[in-house]
Amino acid sequence: MAFERVLTRNVGRAAARTVRGYRESGGYEALGRALKLDPGEIVEEVKRSGLRGRGGAGFPCGAKWGFVPRGTDRPKYIVCNADESEPGTFKDRLLMEHDPHQLIEGCVIAGRAVAANTTYIYIRGEYTHAARVLEEAIRDAYDQGVLGASVLGSGFRHDVYVHRGAGAYICGEETGMLESLEGKRGQPRVKPPFPAVVGAFGAPTVINNVETLCCVTHILQRGSEWFKSIGTDERNTGPKLYAISGHVERPGTYEYPIGVTFQELLDGCGGMYRGRALKAFIPGGASAPMLTAAESGIRMDFDNLAKAGSMLGSAAVIVMDETTCVVRAALRLARFFAHESCGQCTPCREGTNWMRLVLERIESGHGSEADLDLLARVVPNVGGISLCALGDAAQGPVKSLIEKFGDEIRDNLRNRRYPLPRVPFFDLGAVA
Ligand code: SF4
Repeated sequence: MAFERVLTRNVGRAAARTVRGYRESGGYEALGRALKLDPGEIVEEVKRSGLRGRGGAGFPCGAKWGFVPRGTDRPKYIVCNADESEPGTFKDRLLMEHDPHQLIEGCVIAGRAVAANTTYIYIRGEYTHAARVLEEAIRDAYDQGVLGASVLGSGFRHDVYVHRGAGAYICGEETGMLESLEGKRGQPRVKPPFPAVVGAFGAPTVINNVETLCCVTHILQRGSEWFKSIGTDERNTGPKLYAISGHVERPGTYEYPIGVTFQELLDGCGGMYRGRALKAFIPGGASAPMLTAAESGIRMDFDNLAKAGSMLGSAAVIVMDETTCVVRAALRLARFFAHESCGQCTPCREGTNWMRLVLERIESGHGSEADLDLLARVVPNVGGISLCALGDAAQGPVKSLIEKFGDEIRDNLRNRRYPLPRVPFFDLGAVA
């Protein structure tokens, strides 16, 4: 499939980590253009592009910026969500490690659009290398006049700081992140008020994902019409990174136009591991409901996946082959959510743990069909009534497990097949 690499064009080009090297590939031209525009024009350009947030929710980026109050002298902030902690998600790490100035440029453009003079890049604590690369790039940007009191000599001030998280998944939730940034325990806030009005330190704040801000850079450089020309339709536009893991020949981060089919993604990474048959895949990170092999022709965009009862989420694609015990796979995710629930809301705190316990019973061979019925009753009560989306997210894999693989699980339970044999992930015999 022929396509132009946009977001990953500097991956593998070490020189791009310096301002000088980044400029060789057209870097900071978009910022120069943005500084000549009225902030409202930047917002409109991003709105016209149809860019939707790449972090999970898919909310239109330009609309989000439009919510920030204007005509106020209160400070405003950009917070870049780089707390990439969802199992299977590793696309933002690539952008930060290989092309930090692409992100810095997007941050300053966003700052210009909403009149914010400060960006905090809240980065996952475990991403020590990415944090170091960013800090070095930021130092260079100050030295070269890209950041600081007068960005590119325009008189517009913008500062960028890297803030490291401490390993809690819930700090990727935007208000949990703001609490953590303020030095408090990272627990989501009651909304409204939304961060665009009351965000970091009580001030209006825009929170955007790393990939979203990198897309902004290209929209300002090449225009909204160009951005809209990529993708499935006007609601699903632009280039997209997909982080592919699991039973495939070449796992990794791949760039495609948004809306590429799952089958095309699979072919692009060398197909199924050792030619085994596809059983299921998670299209958008741990919280996205599983899909089956029969759905492999699906377009990997926001709306087509939503229609199929799943979601694009963080575009972390986890591929499972015929040797996979789907109950064990769902149990791993249930353990993750039970561990990461911050405990503020009873349905989430208790429900995630109950899901884990029931799945453990089934997987270990001590369960019965009644456990599946119990899960079907418990799961719908975990989401929709909690403070943040973690409760909803925890439902996804288990709900789809019952819907898509209920018959297979009942058959295994009746015939006392659990625990299913564990097949080593890697075929070590073949390697030796
Ligand atoms: Fe915490 Fe879960 Fe409530 Fe979110 S839904 S605030 S993670 S308890």
